[in-house]
Amino acid sequence: MEPALLPPAPAANTVHLPRVAIVSPVYNESENLRELLTRLDEVCTGLPYTFELWLINDGSNEETTALLDALAAQRRDLVVLHLSRNFGHQAALSAGLEEAYRSGVDGALMLDSDLQHPPSLIPELLSQWRAGYDVVYTIRDDQVRTSAFKRITARLFYRLIGWVSETTITPGSADFRLLDRRALEALISLPERGRFLRGLTSWIGFRQVGVHYVPQARFAGGSKYDLKRMYRLGIDGLVSMTTLPLRAILAVGLCISLLSLTYLVYVIGAHFLTNRTIPGWSSVIVAVLLLGGINLTVLGVMGLYMAKIYDEVKGRPLFLVRARVGAHRARASERAR
Ligand code: UDP
Ligand code: MG
Repeated sequence: MEPALLPPAPAANTVHLPRVAIVSPVYNESENLRELLTRLDEVCTGLPYTFELWLINDGSNEETTALLDALAAQRRDLVVLHLSRNFGHQAALSAGLEEAYRSGVDGALMLDSDLQHPPSLIPELLSQWRAGYDVVYTIRDDQVRTSAFKRITARLFYRLIGWVSETTITPGSADFRLLDRRALEALISLPERGRFLRGLTSWIGFRQVGVHYVPQARFAGGSKYDLKRMYRLGIDGLVSMTTLPLRAILAVGLCISLLSLTYLVYVIGAHFLTNRTIPGWSSVIVAVLLLGGINLTVLGVMGLYMAKIYDEVKGRPLFLVRARVGAHRARASERAR
């Protein structure tokens, strides 16, 4: 599918400048859009890149939709993708990244459209990219502007992810980052549907560097992430990055089996050697303990296989190649094709 891209008008005798897509998901942000464009223009004018703005309308209301259309009619460097309904922040971002990649951009920069991610950081991100990094991510420094609840849940969540999965996500990282075309290609080639971009961009590897910034207050409107959406994002993140919960069942089952076997010795002893037991007690306890332990162990074994199946079904590539160098390069990439 060809994205509806209006290429920026080529100025006379220009050299080829790297094309950068600025991708931003929009959900009912009519009060923020003009300000966003103004600030982006302020920052981007004069930089040696060809910028394209990709605004992804994630099923916004009429007002925002109409404004997006009006803006797209005014500006040649603006692409608007209207999604058919509200698919959520992560899906909207993925849509923008994928279409921008297909249109052939050299790099993609993503940021929220509510101006919490300061456009003034863009030159810094670009210069790290030019310095050779494939993924330039950002780390929120001063979190006084975010609510205490969000700060604490986020911190706990990233600690949990770091503990249970092999992928670590820098605490305070948000969906404000720049990807080189190679990293972008790797990211969108991941076949899974539950997209947790923070985890996936960390998982793909390549050369990564973090840039610190101070988050800004939302320019207008309130957060679109209510508790339900946060919960869904959290579960998506956890389940897509680790199968530990499935594997943990086995450990729990084995522990319970072991403990109940020990207790069984006592129950049988008490049954035969003392007269303190009520008739029927020993047999009930034996049945409950043994079956409980066996149940959990069997579930755990099933969990192991389910975890394997889940990993296989996701079909993530076993490895990703960042670059091919040297004389064998041509042949190797020939074979890879
Ligand atoms: N957003 C979206 N779809 C949604 C919810 C949010 O595209 O269903 C966009 C929203 O317009 C904003 C970004 O995702 O540009 C981040 O959302 P928000 O600022 O509400 O999240 P927070 O900053 O509170 O985490
Ligand atoms: Mg926000």
